[in-house]
Amino acid sequence: MIRLLTGILLLGALQPLWGQARHEFTELHMGVAVRMVLFAPDTATARRAARAAYDRIAALEDVFSDYRPGSEVRRLETRPGEWVPVTDELLEVLRTALLVAALTNGAFDPTAGPLTHLWRQARSTGVLPTPADLDAARALVNWRALHLNGLLSAVRIDRAGMRLDLGGIAKGYILGQAMAVLDSSGTSSALVEAGGDIILGDPPPGRLGWDVEIQGMAPGPLASVAVATSGTTEQYLEIGGVRYAHIIDPRTGLALTTRHLATVIGPDPAVADALATALVVLGAGDRRMLLAGFPGYRATVVVPDLHEVTAPGTPPQFRSTPRAPREQP
Ligand code: ADP
Ligand code: MG
Repeated sequence: MIRLLTGILLLGALQPLWGQARHEFTELHMGVAVRMVLFAPDTATARRAARAAYDRIAALEDVFSDYRPGSEVRRLETRPGEWVPVTDELLEVLRTALLVAALTNGAFDPTAGPLTHLWRQARSTGVLPTPADLDAARALVNWRALHLNGLLSAVRIDRAGMRLDLGGIAKGYILGQAMAVLDSSGTSSALVEAGGDIILGDPPPGRLGWDVEIQGMAPGPLASVAVATSGTTEQYLEIGGVRYAHIIDPRTGLALTTRHLATVIGPDPAVADALATALVVLGAGDRRMLLAGFPGYRATVVVPDLHEVTAPGTPPQFRSTPRAPREQP
């Protein structure tokens, strides 16, 4: 009995004064480990909140998944030329995707599917796509042939064979939705993280924010923002000594062979995710122009030996070995 009491007292001492303890969960979704850190008054509350947030992620995978033939995105492509009614979630993500597509002149393109699939195939076979295959795929990639109707909540694609690829934006959106669930479950001091993208809620109790380590930036404690990372340094195919990344330039049809890691901090997780992908594709001048259109967002782009800060007014610094951002425990 005394031991039990001591145990309880000790546990009590480990908990901060405000009675919120840190809980951590991990589940596999979207092909990656999705980690949640949240502060809650008790384990039951923490588990309930995390369960609801993971369920929301699973439900959204049915909307966005590239790999599930029955996903809403996949079904949309089977009806070219028709207005297809879609969920609010898909409409919202497509609206953001088209905004970033327009502002990057198609460097970020949600219709890049035919090209990303060709390069995905190349990655699994180790054989580069032929120029004819690339031409055929490129002819089907065009964000201007994707139309939204907000009044009807409907989407139309113009041509058969078009394929949406929301891989550069949906993860941010989905993690943001998971955070919204944690928030409405009474656990707003939380962090949701997967594959280098981090969504931060309210700060941990008694703290100003979360400490996130970001290459090329000392952002200070962060709260209520998304931190999205995209890069050509981690997923690539090497043929003849050349590294072809999983991010492609829709304007050339080619997988990127440059080495960049972009991190974006900003309020909307889907916007941050899309911007990070776009920054990897764009050249330095275009990056600055793109960021000027998103005043609430900060970004850095690092390359292996040279580190460039694209946020206006910040002097450039030099670093090596870029790495995706990590939350400091
Ligand atoms: P990750 O998925 O590794 O976190 P990103 O957010 O950069 O990284 O997303 C990369 C994914 O975006 C690719 O796997 C592909 O599905 C998609 N994609 C690749 N190139 C483009 C592009 N130019 N525009 C839009 N989406 C792209
Ligand atoms: Mg992205």
